[in-house]
Amino acid sequence: MNLHLSATAPGKALVPHYIPAGNECELFELAWKRKLPLLLKGPTGCGKTRFVSHMAARLGLPLSTVSCHDDLAAADLTGRYLLKGGDTVWVDGPLTRAVRNGGVCYLDEVVEARKDVAVVLHPLTDDRRILPLERTGETLEAPAEFMLVVSYNPGYQNILKALKPSTKQRFVAIEFDFLPKEQEIAIVSAESGLEERHVAPLVNLAQRLRAMKGHDLEEGVSTRLLVYCASLIESGLTPREAISAAMIEPLTDDPDVRLALREVAGAII
Ligand code: ADP
Repeated sequence: MNLHLSATAPGKALVPHYIPAGNECELFELAWKRKLPLLLKGPTGCGKTRFVSHMAARLGLPLSTVSCHDDLAAADLTGRYLLKGGDTVWVDGPLTRAVRNGGVCYLDEVVEARKDVAVVLHPLTDDRRILPLERTGETLEAPAEFMLVVSYNPGYQNILKALKPSTKQRFVAIEFDFLPKEQEIAIVSAESGLEERHVAPLVNLAQRLRAMKGHDLEEGVSTRLLVYCASLIESGLTPREAISAAMIEPLTDDPDVRLALREVAGAII
């Protein structure tokens, strides 16, 4: 089992910095008030996770984040019986804990998880808002303070990994994309400490490289990689080295494509 969990205590966490692209903060708050589950769609590294931690902290809610992967099964979310000192005891998984105690449960890249996860999510994402635990015989009713948020990246174009309509249609959905240039420059500068005038050419380059997505590249440069690149420059690496390490090498292993990316970078920086 490989769960990446993080938790923020209610009221204690500082609100993580987040620059909204549109009305997503209002939408999140309304979905929360009306007990509606939320689906965030968008490419990797464009701010979905940051958005959820920002909103959870803003609303004073505990947050449980689970990074889903192809080995993650329903029992990893609900819980299982474990041997403890000779006794067999039930241990709640992160979803069950969030349903029992209230708070936001965020399943990142939910489409990666095994199919049985959908079976657990369905009764939680309609008006029943229940979590049946077959193994313990309990049926938990989600309290008003519980909210389920899931994310996925529709851009992978993997038919086997698409979210089924029967699952998708249980969520209010928000589409995320990379922010317009000026906003992205502001974010990368704020996150890395590099002055905006030095960040601007990096964002220009990212936009050029994103335009190559689908041709030579599976994914474009994410805001996350831009933040990495700017941080390396701010720490003293030359822009050329930083771009290579953070904006070219992570995108492709193909030597020809790498060469093409270097040429694009050379023409801009
Ligand atoms: P995702 O969950 O979509 O893969 P993240 O939320 O981890 O992406 O975003 C990656 C990084 O990009 C964040 O850690 C943050 O530094 C930066 N970032 C992206 N969008 C924003 C935003 N709107 N406001 C502030 N930071 C952002």
